[in-house]
Amino acid sequence: MTIPLKTGILYGPVNSRRLGRSLGINLLPAGRKVCTFDCAYCQYGWTERSAGLASGFATPEAVVQSLEALLPTLPQPPAYLTFSGNGEPTLHPEFPAIVEAVIGIRDRLVPSARTAILSNSGTSGREDIRRSLRRLDVRIMKLDAGTEAVFSGFNRPLGGLTLKEIVDGLAEHGGVTVQSLWAGGPAGNYSEGEVEKWIERLRLVRPVEVQIYSLDRGWPDLWLAPLERRRLDAIGARLKAEGIPATVF
Ligand code: SF4
Repeated sequence: MTIPLKTGILYGPVNSRRLGRSLGINLLPAGRKVCTFDCAYCQYGWTERSAGLASGFATPEAVVQSLEALLPTLPQPPAYLTFSGNGEPTLHPEFPAIVEAVIGIRDRLVPSARTAILSNSGTSGREDIRRSLRRLDVRIMKLDAGTEAVFSGFNRPLGGLTLKEIVDGLAEHGGVTVQSLWAGGPAGNYSEGEVEKWIERLRLVRPVEVQIYSLDRGWPDLWLAPLERRRLDAIGARLKAEGIPATVF
């Protein structure tokens, strides 16, 4: 069972497990998932592989107008303005301009709020995107695998994207938070060997923190199962032994 796609630009504020009170910003088309991955665990279900890049992205003007209309009406400012939503936010063709506009509105209307993104890391190889992401306070970047085989089977990237390209981009990036979902079952990514290979990749990325979690809201691949809490805790302990800050959710 998966959850419905977002039908507009703003959603929430929601009480996010990882960010607290967060106002979500969906730059992707209403009711349509646009992503370069097709993760076995995606809460929105499978990616339309034949669709290509969709039309119907939120315009910069509409994003600005939505925030200017909503923020003054909230009883308290959100802790975060978070780029997330129906897929991968950095695929928006005007992503850098929208980042600047949102930072400007934050400074003007809710200066206590921080800016954040939940990204699949697929555009980490692009310098223009890295430059924009560095303008955000928190960059939470996906890395769920240590080997190309698990990356290919679990995150199911489109267009020939490789794990090496992503890790090279994240290493170039610097200062990112890594988010890693671990799942069991025949289609899961978890094994002790995979965790060790993943840690080798993390040594190259040098994240400020790693967020570890398992399945939560619903997933399309019925050959997945949530990973037991004791295994998630063991991954966290393994990272801390490496000197890498880790939080298990
Ligand atoms: S990267 Fe995110 S939105 Fe894209 S398929 Fe994976 S879980 Fe879904």
